[in-house]
Amino acid sequence: MKKFQSVRGMRDILPKESKTFRLLEQTLINLSNQYGYEEIRTPILEDTNLFIKSIGDGTDIVEKEMYTFKNLKENSFSMRPEGTASCARALIEHGLHDSINKLWYLGPFFRHERPQKGRYRQFHQFGIEFIGVENFEADIEIISLANSIWQKLNIKPILKINTIGDIDDRKKYTKILIDYFNKYKNKLNDNEKSKIDLNPLRILDSKNPNLKDIIGSAPKIKDYISKESNEHFENLLNGLERKNILYQRDDNLVRGLDYYNRTVFEYLDNSDNSQNTICAGGRYDLLFESLCEKKVPALGFAIGLERLLDYIKDKPIQKNSVVFYIAVMNQTDNLYAQNIAELIRKISENFSVLVSYNYTNLKVQLKKADKLSADYCVIIGEEESKNNSFQLKNMNSGQQEMVLNNNIEKYINVKCIKGNNYE
Ligand code: ATP
Ligand code: MG
Repeated sequence: MKKFQSVRGMRDILPKESKTFRLLEQTLINLSNQYGYEEIRTPILEDTNLFIKSIGDGTDIVEKEMYTFKNLKENSFSMRPEGTASCARALIEHGLHDSINKLWYLGPFFRHERPQKGRYRQFHQFGIEFIGVENFEADIEIISLANSIWQKLNIKPILKINTIGDIDDRKKYTKILIDYFNKYKNKLNDNEKSKIDLNPLRILDSKNPNLKDIIGSAPKIKDYISKESNEHFENLLNGLERKNILYQRDDNLVRGLDYYNRTVFEYLDNSDNSQNTICAGGRYDLLFESLCEKKVPALGFAIGLERLLDYIKDKPIQKNSVVFYIAVMNQTDNLYAQNIAELIRKISENFSVLVSYNYTNLKVQLKKADKLSADYCVIIGEEESKNNSFQLKNMNSGQQEMVLNNNIEKYINVKCIKGNNYE
């Protein structure tokens, strides 16, 4: 019989991993809420033209990575490859783009790329969008938020940052770059050649080692940046220094999406993985204008959750729930055990309580509790159910005591709630 498998590049996240996933998401959500960001949920499918118009047709995403299909009426839809365009579309559609909006989103995104470590066809992003503020202080705020996320997770990715100026600066620079790459045409592969006229900035983004020297000596965008853009960038760098946020200027960092301008940045994990960008973002003051003809300054970043998880996988991640396992000696006491479980769950939402359905001897049940990493084992035998009580065994210390149901809150109290996740 045919055995079905998940689609190539799309994978299952099983309970062992989903717990860490959820913990990580919760940390990102909590911090973003603290900074005043609110959740937005947009559909997976959008009009294909939304992405063509915003991300741009010369980009890898639009050229070859989107899952696009037509319905019976021949309308073309695409599964979202990123989140920013959808957020802008939603704000415009609901007439919310005149005011300041601070949004976060979380969910699956889809790109038809060659699957490999850190690169999937369905992956997850957590993104931040800060809409409506033109000043450099907004850039500092989102970078500070990213940094506080890394701090909470106990990691120190490297911040690379650059400015790609405004649209006119870019037009000037693009011309110079086209001339430059045309001189080295014979060293470029077909794909890179096709980008010379279409989107030469994207060649700077290339990871092809043969191009390292050519890219290294290419004209730098910083020599074509307007006074205003430069000032924005200098103020931003200054502010980062004042906040003790470390960064590296990277003249070759351009981020090929069409909607970016001025600030662009990436955070890299300090490994040799070729997929080591865990977070990327920047300003996109031009995006709204291209979708609704109104100028709305905006900026944001997106974190690739699979890559971030891979990065933090060696760090001890403590669960923040306390696990109780209820060992029941006789089937007739199962409902009694379920009642106790409910009493414990009501004490704190951080308490997770499992009831045994295996009425073998105590030793086997304690082993099971251990396997589930239970913090406490509640033991219920004939005596206990008769006396409205139970035995509470601390799985760490091995200490055990009898608890009367009336005293349950006194014994199992808030002290059992564990501290923070990643510390
Ligand atoms: P890359 O240079 O790795 O192709 P990108 O520039 O295409 O990244 P963005 O569009 O900026 O990536 O997306 C933000 C983040 O989402 C990336 O930094 C990365 O962590 C993650 N990401 C992007 N594409 C994938 C993918 N196919 N699989 C897993 N994570 C991804
Ligand atoms: Mg990519």
